[in-house]
Amino acid sequence: MGIEIILDNCTGCGLCETACPFGQIEVVDKKAVIKSGCTLCGACCEACEFEAVLLDRLVSELASCVLELLGEGRKLADKLGEELAAVLPGHQVEGLCEALFAHGADKVYLAEHESLEAYQTESYTAVLTAVVSQYKPSVFLFGATTTGRDLAPRLACRVRTGLTADCTGLDIEAETGLLLQTRPAWGGNIMATIKTANHRPQMATVRPRVMKKPASVPKRTGEIVRIPAEINPKSIKAKRVEVIKYTDTAVQLDEADIVVAGGRGLQTPENFKMIEELAELLGAGVGASRPAVDLGWKPHPHQVGQTGKTVGPKVYIACGISGAVQHRVGMETSEIIVAINKDPDAPIMRTADYAAVGDLFQILPALIKEISSRKK
Ligand SMILES: Cc1cc2nc3c(=O)[nH]c(=O)nc-3n(C[C@H](O)[C@H](O)[C@H](O)COP(=O)(O)OP(=O)(O)OC[C@H]3O[C@@H](n4cnc5c(N)ncnc54)[C@H](O)[C@@H]3O)c2cc1C
Repeated sequence: MGIEIILDNCTGCGLCETACPFGQIEVVDKKAVIKSGCTLCGACCEACEFEAVLLDRLVSELASCVLELLGEGRKLADKLGEELAAVLPGHQVEGLCEALFAHGADKVYLAEHESLEAYQTESYTAVLTAVVSQYKPSVFLFGATTTGRDLAPRLACRVRTGLTADCTGLDIEAETGLLLQTRPAWGGNIMATIKTANHRPQMATVRPRVMKKPASVPKRTGEIVRIPAEINPKSIKAKRVEVIKYTDTAVQLDEADIVVAGGRGLQTPENFKMIEELAELLGAGVGASRPAVDLGWKPHPHQVGQTGKTVGPKVYIACGISGAVQHRVGMETSEIIVAINKDPDAPIMRTADYAAVGDLFQILPALIKEISSRKK
């Protein structure tokens, strides 16, 4: 179902039971039990102090991005005086509607069918095309995730409208009510604001982790509109043969509370190990600038920036990174940015909350030594 209790870790403390906004978890015989109406909102995972509640990574990632879109969509809908709807294709997913309402949706278009259990481009495109044709939304947003990037262009083509990919900002133009879709352009050197004046819906994919998740209002309700999922099997040309989970720990980079990232200033792959050492001490994810990736010091899943991941941790420590705009778009929503750089005029200093101006070959070993000794 996307969530499981690790019985060996569960102490029956009840933290998860208290945290669940939907009353869908209960401690029975000193072990937590999840009920069938679980919305996969993840509140129990956050509350658990024993790593006993495991939310499927895909579910939790999708949920994060969907919630961010709902938060932003709510603001846009309120400005337009329109309702906010979510589209939910899947199989036995009705339980998720509550979470969608709690995070701002007024309506959920629910398309349930066995064939929609796993994401599949053609069937999902068919469902979304039917929703757009029938209900004619003025705006349609997707997360710029692997799925969103696959699905949104197809839908845009089917319904003959434009699509602005990878937006980092959305707003409504006061005079016209048009959606203002802002994204980095020309290699990230300018921020372009794009409008879709003549076609509907106005469609955009939005970078995950740029928008903030809204707070959940558990008693908020809405309307479920059931969409017939009539999919002609002959129209499905691709088949899912196997699912292979990607297990590289780098995937957790965009979920990490702390990210330690290294750039060209590290000079060699051996020196980059200092970044890994510091990250391990802090329980942080390891990030890298594009040159550090291009030079083969770290694989691409670690890259932060326009052509890499967007991260928004509590603390981002940039070591030997100049802070070019293409890097900054991937990390500037971090709560606290610490820059270690010998150049006081490096662009990273403009976004840094704390700057250590000096030689990283002196600062990093000193930092590692100090943190190690405090941990001991
Ligand atoms: C279309 C496009 C997409 C791009 N996408 C990305 C992306 O996703 N992510 C990304 O990172 N870049 C991206 N770039 C590249 C980006 O423009 C920069 O070139 C890159 O971010 C610079 O990486 P850097 O900061 O590691 O290296 P540099 O710019 O070379 O900076 C190295 C820094 O280290 C400092 N330094 C050197 N020695 C020391 C020392 N001993 N102690 C302390 N500090 C030291 C220097 O002062 C300097 O500020 C993209 C570019 C384009 C055109």
